[in-house]
Amino acid sequence: MQFSPEDDEFRRRVADWLAANAPAPRGPCVPGQEHESFAGRLAWNRRLAAAGWTCLGWPAAFGGHDATFMQQVIFYEEYARSAAPERVAVVGEELLGPTLIALGTPEQQRRFLPPIAAVQELWCQGYSEPGAGSDLAAVATTAVADGDQWVITGQKVWTSLAHEADWCFVLARTEPGSRRSAGLSYLLVPMRQPGITVRPIRQLTGESEFNEVFFDGARTELGNVVGEPGDGWRIAMATLRFERGVGMLGKQVGFRRELGDLVEIARRNGASTDPLIRERLARAWIGLEVMRAYTLDSLGEPAGGGSARGPAGVGAEPSVLKVLWSRWHQALGELAMDIHGAASMVDAGEARDVDEWRRVYLFGRAETIYGGSDEIQRNIIATRALGLPRQLRG
Ligand SMILES: Cc1cc2nc3c(=O)[nH]c(=O)nc-3n(C[C@H](O)[C@H](O)[C@H](O)COP(=O)(O)OP(=O)(O)OC[C@H]3O[C@@H](n4cnc5c(N)ncnc54)[C@H](O)[C@@H]3O)c2cc1C
Repeated sequence: MQFSPEDDEFRRRVADWLAANAPAPRGPCVPGQEHESFAGRLAWNRRLAAAGWTCLGWPAAFGGHDATFMQQVIFYEEYARSAAPERVAVVGEELLGPTLIALGTPEQQRRFLPPIAAVQELWCQGYSEPGAGSDLAAVATTAVADGDQWVITGQKVWTSLAHEADWCFVLARTEPGSRRSAGLSYLLVPMRQPGITVRPIRQLTGESEFNEVFFDGARTELGNVVGEPGDGWRIAMATLRFERGVGMLGKQVGFRRELGDLVEIARRNGASTDPLIRERLARAWIGLEVMRAYTLDSLGEPAGGGSARGPAGVGAEPSVLKVLWSRWHQALGELAMDIHGAASMVDAGEARDVDEWRRVYLFGRAETIYGGSDEIQRNIIATRALGLPRQLRG
């Protein structure tokens, strides 16, 4: 990947701004205090927006900044390097916004994009249900038209940030009796209304970042459907394609920073003299190099015979990357626990370092689930990269 002198100048601008403005990284997860940390992250995300550092890749006409692909890569890399707190408006900026830019009506674009760009309205993603996760086409939540509104009934689950979100994009069945991917619609639904109940789910980390969401006669305007009614599957799949973008290289810069920190800890506490720990640290470093090489390769042209692009040209690269990074990060969390030794098993009190690593370890469990589970990614690799027959559905 080649950066031009203009890219280098852009990198300096991003790095300087972050160095001057980024608050300290988010502290460890303290049960009961997750909402405080949310308020701080929201304020920070709004500051990023005010300074023009959100929606970089969106066209300027929609409130974005027309940033080139390279500039977006640079921003994510510098952001990860700076260890600034996690942004909170990611679902609107990276999922719904691009979907509306590509497939929304001009009215929807005018109504919904500016508050996303300004981080004034937060969004959540209402796809998964108790009976529809990996098998998303089993969605059972229904919506029926009533005058000039949709009336929605059903339940979503694992809905990240639903307790903070102002709006949700909901995949719902609008054609009674329809099956699988037919008859679904992609609805934009306001969250703060009597027909919606949000019940937080407590996670291993002690945080409640995701929720159950109950729709009991919830309402939204008839015009708040993206695409045609019944065409929701196509729109939902388009949104998923936006999920795996250039953020991946930034993620890896964050991983590199974490690995560097862990090496330092191992050096300090003597764990680095243990031959097995040394070997695992070396393997982690190699894994990171593999991930970076694969990411750069998959961002460029197909690499020929060894490419994960199948004969039909539909890539398995996002699935390969998902398996690589999620497994790598889980292993890093386990290594961190072993390097900290017995200290990793008790509440660390003031020793925030251990708490933060424990969070990496515990949250790692979720990384092979969200965004498509490990098994589903391997099924995709099997069919798209290896040309194996599709799995039979029972
Ligand atoms: C932290 C986190 C945040 C999330 N945020 C959101 C969100 O904001 N919005 C949203 O809509 N969803 C969200 N999800 C849900 C996520 O998309 C689902 O958990 C995921 O798609 C898996 O679905 P499931 O949990 O129903 O598991 P299931 O689909 O029931 O799978 C259970 C197990 O069976 C395996 N399995 C299932 N089908 C197959 C198959 N065909 N072949 C082989 N193995 C299979 C799976 O890999 C898994 O191990 C989130 C999940 C997590 C963990």
